[in-house]
Amino acid sequence: MDADIIIVGAGPAGLCLAKRLSGRQLKVIVLEQQNQDLLEEPQFDGREIALTQHSAKLMQDMGLWDLIDRADIAPLVNAKVIDGPSSFSMMIGHELGGRSELGWLVSNHLIRQAAWIGVQQAIAANADITLLAGEKVTAVHTDADAGSVTLASGRTLSTKLVVAADSRFSTTRRMMGIAAHMHDFGKNMLVCAMTFEKPHDFAAWEWFGYGQTLALLPMNPHPVTGAHRASAVITLPSREIETLMQMEPATFNAAVTDRFANRLGAMQLVSTRHNYPLVAVFPQRLVAQRFATVGDAAVGMHPVTAHGFNFGLLSVEALTQEIATALHTKADIGSTSLLQRYEGKQKRATLPLFWMTRLIIEIYTRDTGPAKLARQLILRVSDRLIPFKRSIARSLSGG
Ligand SMILES: Cc1cc2nc3c(=O)[nH]c(=O)nc-3n(C[C@H](O)[C@H](O)[C@H](O)COP(=O)(O)OP(=O)(O)OC[C@H]3O[C@@H](n4cnc5c(N)ncnc54)[C@H](O)[C@@H]3O)c2cc1C
Repeated sequence: MDADIIIVGAGPAGLCLAKRLSGRQLKVIVLEQQNQDLLEEPQFDGREIALTQHSAKLMQDMGLWDLIDRADIAPLVNAKVIDGPSSFSMMIGHELGGRSELGWLVSNHLIRQAAWIGVQQAIAANADITLLAGEKVTAVHTDADAGSVTLASGRTLSTKLVVAADSRFSTTRRMMGIAAHMHDFGKNMLVCAMTFEKPHDFAAWEWFGYGQTLALLPMNPHPVTGAHRASAVITLPSREIETLMQMEPATFNAAVTDRFANRLGAMQLVSTRHNYPLVAVFPQRLVAQRFATVGDAAVGMHPVTAHGFNFGLLSVEALTQEIATALHTKADIGSTSLLQRYEGKQKRATLPLFWMTRLIIEIYTRDTGPAKLARQLILRVSDRLIPFKRSIARSLSGG
């Protein structure tokens, strides 16, 4: 065997899994199609990742949290949901979660960088991970005894277990014949960092406007100007997003200030702009013979409930625990029973929120007269339901 475990994809989920498996007398190979320099120095990609308290703890346990500069970690103190032009908002306060913050916000590229450094440290300490960059997986095969992956270079590697961490559009999952429920929302999301005049008080906004959905994810003040700063998230049909992407910065600033109804004062672009199509994916199976999916390959969430990478970390943790138990009992790390236990746990953790998210979007992007009334009513009633709000707070903090 070339490896005990082959991980396809060195995104944050694949790297975190390699890091968690290190030091267990396993030989792990990570295969990544991107070149090494892109992995070593990931570029800002616009995503500000809301991490639950539980995810922050998992990252601390992996030694990744301390690899991120404290100034780049912003607290998520409160979250508010706004509907249409109304000034009313449903507020989810940090006190509902019993902590001084609901969670934390960290840029995706900094998470990727920390995970990369964490893997390098594991390689230096244990010499049990081989990371092959610039290697695209083009074929996967598994049977009762072993698995193998073939690379674009023609090389074939054998293993006891293949793990797909190759994004929500996982080609290895597809090559294993696993179908997936995919929902294209027909919209795109523009994300960028902006500064503005009024304080955000470290509250995240989810603003279901009419004809647009906006979000604001608080960041620490701009390191040079000290101005209030946040990640602005704008969801619109792709053509409208493309127009915003192409605007001169000054025109863009005015357009976004207007879209946010001047509630933050004048807004100013302070980063590159990034455009993501919105497609949610849930595979019919998360495992197959000697094959498992983790990260977005196991569930591709709509970002509105900010759970994609949080679920990714849960999948890493759940699979690692199963593998650790198998090693302890000298059982097969690619056995069907192990993989089924992992699948059951992961589905229970993710499927309810996957469908809940779909429902929220279904309700809150309908702009007909009755729908607008229902939207307001639901929000005002929910605001009074403290147990309901507490359950949202717990979901945001991962409790
Ligand atoms: C706008 C936006 C906002 C988000 N906000 C949040 C948030 O607030 N909270 C949260 O928890 N999550 C959030 N997410 C989700 C989060 O970004 C993802 O869950 C996470 O990045 C997925 O990591 P991954 O490692 O599973 O996949 P990816 O980051 O997609 O990595 C997959 C890797 O596999 C490699 N690969 C693919 N195919 C092959 C192949 N055939 N051979 C070799 N390598 C291959 C790719 O090159 C890539 O490096 C957000 C996402 C978006 C788009």
